[in-house]
Amino acid sequence: MDMILRIDMGAAGGPKAKVEPVGAFAGLGGRGMTSMIVAKEVDPLCHPLSAANKLVIAPGLLTGTSASTSGRLSVGCKSPLTGTIKESNAGGQAAQALARLGYAAVIIEGKPKGDDWYKLLINKEGIKFTVDNSMKMLGTYATVDKLRKEYGEKVAYMMIGQAGEMTLMNASIACTDRELHPTRHCGRGGVGAVMGAKKIKAIIIDEAGTQMRAPKDPEKFKEAGKVFVEGLKKHAVSGQALPAYGTNVLTNILNEAGGYPTRNFSTGRFEGGSKISGESLAALEDKRGGPGSSTHGCHRGCIIQCSGIFTDEKGNYVTKQPEYETVWSHGGHCGIDDLDAIALMDRMDDDFGLDTIESGVTIGVAMEAGVIPFGDAKAAINLLAEVGKGTPLGKVIGSGAGITGKVFGVERVPVVKNQALPAYDPRAIQGIGVTYATSTMGADHTAGYAIATNILKVGGYVDPLKTEGQVDLSRNLQIATAAVDATGMCLFIAFPLLDQPDTFQALIDLLNSFYGLSLTADSVVALGKKILSVEREFNKNAGFTAVHDRLPRFFQQEPVAPHNVTFTVKDEELDKLFNW
Ligand code: SF4
Repeated sequence: MDMILRIDMGAAGGPKAKVEPVGAFAGLGGRGMTSMIVAKEVDPLCHPLSAANKLVIAPGLLTGTSASTSGRLSVGCKSPLTGTIKESNAGGQAAQALARLGYAAVIIEGKPKGDDWYKLLINKEGIKFTVDNSMKMLGTYATVDKLRKEYGEKVAYMMIGQAGEMTLMNASIACTDRELHPTRHCGRGGVGAVMGAKKIKAIIIDEAGTQMRAPKDPEKFKEAGKVFVEGLKKHAVSGQALPAYGTNVLTNILNEAGGYPTRNFSTGRFEGGSKISGESLAALEDKRGGPGSSTHGCHRGCIIQCSGIFTDEKGNYVTKQPEYETVWSHGGHCGIDDLDAIALMDRMDDDFGLDTIESGVTIGVAMEAGVIPFGDAKAAINLLAEVGKGTPLGKVIGSGAGITGKVFGVERVPVVKNQALPAYDPRAIQGIGVTYATSTMGADHTAGYAIATNILKVGGYVDPLKTEGQVDLSRNLQIATAAVDATGMCLFIAFPLLDQPDTFQALIDLLNSFYGLSLTADSVVALGKKILSVEREFNKNAGFTAVHDRLPRFFQQEPVAPHNVTFTVKDEELDKLFNW
């Protein structure tokens, strides 16, 4: 992985590409790579849909190796949704293919004139650009069906749906999973709109003729890999809960804790929670049998295997097993307790190319506005369908919760930096509120997953209802997460990492034996701080100040049941988060 593929979509005479040495970006991967390139090469004041913005695609430092669970992909740019720097992360097969082809990053810049759409084939021979308008306004499923006829089954596909083509602010980039379904999305922040602005409908990545990346010290790498896998397997979350129920195991836990945002954050417990829980989802899948009755990895080599398939009552494929965040955003947040309706909306989001969190929260905001009633699954499905049709209403909904709240005159809009809050109420779980407020990415649970320590008691315990300790907790998690996001490892390795020092050491040993380095735990912390500092600087130059590091005020004013608490971490405490 010592090359950068630089693609100029706006070059005179048509798109051009060149291969460059990784140079100054050597030693970076994943979010570390995307954020450093965006910070160095993108004008923070540029319009996100302009030729000046760049779409950076990067596998992680360990992606394409035999290290387990290391196949995550980072996509970075200036976000159309938030206006901040953005790293959006997905599973699927694309990252491993890019890494095996030797690319540490693909940088897509410029934009072509005219209305033509392009598809890009990246393989061992280099890159081929083809004008192809036959997939115009096709959903991602139909796009894959067309592409696989031409390029086959043994490649990875990345693409946008209708939302990306319309450059809507909630547009995602879909990556195909092991079954070649377009279910793994770089969802957050509208990265699909940037791909759409560059007139790229699809990227085909063919790793044929490549090898798995080889470590500098194979013996030590193998040994570290063994310890690492044992660590993932023995932890209760990564070894038992996630493989058994997928991420939706969290529904009952968060509902019980009173931190499950219900009907647009109006209460913290959903009466229909148990009907859409991970346990109910698993029971339904078992009853229906077939491919949905067991979990598997979203990419080759994942040992946690939290992913799955959802089938209808006749056993036909509908979508991937919906994630906790998706079940929540279209479920409890909208007052809907019907798993089939939620799965259908997950499928529609994936097909149109939308982030499921933003999509569900947007529908909930529209419900608060009275556009459709809370709890009405049919009306929610119809509203979402407007996005695929590209109607004016659909374009509003596809632009996210913030815009929808403004269009319909809603006061209670759960966004930070215009990005929708995920599935944890920041009043009942104060640590995650600190992360939402201060993350460089807008409201993002994965930026510093305080639920681990506030609720799951992983990595110690900080009382979720108290003010004390939350800023320190979020700071430490945000630093660690930025570093993990650079490795290409799935964030779910963080559970054993936080609890088991030998698993954390095994991750460092994997990096050291692969690259011939002598990193320590301090180096990992330094890397995390460096990434966050660069991202903060970009945001500052884009016009962001301390006043943007705030939750919407209603979280400080409206107590949430059942604990009847407000968000109590003071503004001046939030402002200390990045003081290191
Ligand atoms: S743990 Fe789940 S999300 Fe993470 S890589 Fe494995 S299957 Fe994908």
